[in-house]
Amino acid sequence: MAFKTLDDMDLDGRVVLTRVDVNVPVEDGRVTDTTRIDRVAPTIRDLRDAGAKVVLLAHFGRPKGKVVPEMSLRQIVPALAEAFGTEVGFADGGYGDAVSKMSEGDVLLFENLRFNPGEEANDEGFAKRLASVGDVYCNDAFSAAHRAHASTEALARLLPACAGRSMQAELEALEAALGSPKPPVAALVGGAKVSTKLELLSNLVTRVQHLIIGGGMANTFLAAQGLDVKRSLCEHDLADTARDIAAKAEAEGCTILLPRDVVVAEAFEANAPSRVVKVEDVPDGHMILDTGPDSVAHIRTVLDGCATLVWNGPLGAFEIPPFDAGTVDAARYAAELTQAGKLVSVAGGGDTVSALNRAGVADDFTYISTAGGAFLEWLEGKTLPGVAALEG
Ligand code: AMP
Repeated sequence: MAFKTLDDMDLDGRVVLTRVDVNVPVEDGRVTDTTRIDRVAPTIRDLRDAGAKVVLLAHFGRPKGKVVPEMSLRQIVPALAEAFGTEVGFADGGYGDAVSKMSEGDVLLFENLRFNPGEEANDEGFAKRLASVGDVYCNDAFSAAHRAHASTEALARLLPACAGRSMQAELEALEAALGSPKPPVAALVGGAKVSTKLELLSNLVTRVQHLIIGGGMANTFLAAQGLDVKRSLCEHDLADTARDIAAKAEAEGCTILLPRDVVVAEAFEANAPSRVVKVEDVPDGHMILDTGPDSVAHIRTVLDGCATLVWNGPLGAFEIPPFDAGTVDAARYAAELTQAGKLVSVAGGGDTVSALNRAGVADDFTYISTAGGAFLEWLEGKTLPGVAALEG
């Protein structure tokens, strides 16, 4: 991957148009979770230290090309100012004027870009208008990089462009996990359904040596092998697809690891009476809700022999105890190996972050992506327009 970073750019006295993801939850005018804002703070700090005039470009909600007052970015200015430790200006028009009044180290937020239909249309004219008020473009919004919008794609091609610190960290982690990883590589894919992860599974079997399948989607693979999963969540109509993926894996030299034992219960509810059975022995009236201890021990052994792990999706219905045990156990072991310097572990997408938080290991993985859709598209092997534009 060849992209420039803040260290490659001349920033002193320059107006740096900085795309950030500050699409944070707001209740009664107050930001309730500042994670996304905190993630871009290092970029803002480095830009200001380098003498840049920092113009923030962002979206908020889905106003669909119209001005929707409740989706104004003005309401998050106080949260930005607090996180960045400096005053943050706001402009909802007269952009050229507002920028011309900036001094080095100033931070100015533009109004929600999606109020303009040109943003989501990746309109060249809109991008040119943005470009005309800046000298340098910096993208620090990996989570918006799967969308070709004016502020993520067209604009990057109009100005000298670079990645901000959180974008840089994300791209370096993804490169280490699947771009040019240290082999052997394991991918652990869990979650509810095969149907939502078909492209991801098809891509991963060509890239990794071990594909560990857990969660509800494992049931579809087990049923495709002729096992009776009884009342378990299972996409029976995808049996052929599951067999195709297994065949592709074999042809590519990728081993697929399915559960050998599972935790079953009669009800999908917290603390429902449960027991561990072999996958061949799911009792009538029961459903599979977690990967069993013998299977997790097997996963541990596979991880022992791997240098890299990519993780997406829980091994069971982790939101309801005791069906979080498999996910928690496997996550803690991956974290241990990572902390011992034996494993590069990268996780992300959907529920994965909350599952790893629940296991208390979110800080012990090499990298955890909070990027959702962009992370999944990257696992699917797709080119992300916002990243491609940075690579020039
Ligand atoms: P995903 O968003 O595709 O990663 O799926 C995550 C969801 O899968 C979580 O809500 C889990 O509760 C659910 N899940 C995982 N394993 C099972 C299972 N064996 N049966 C039903 N749901 C499951």
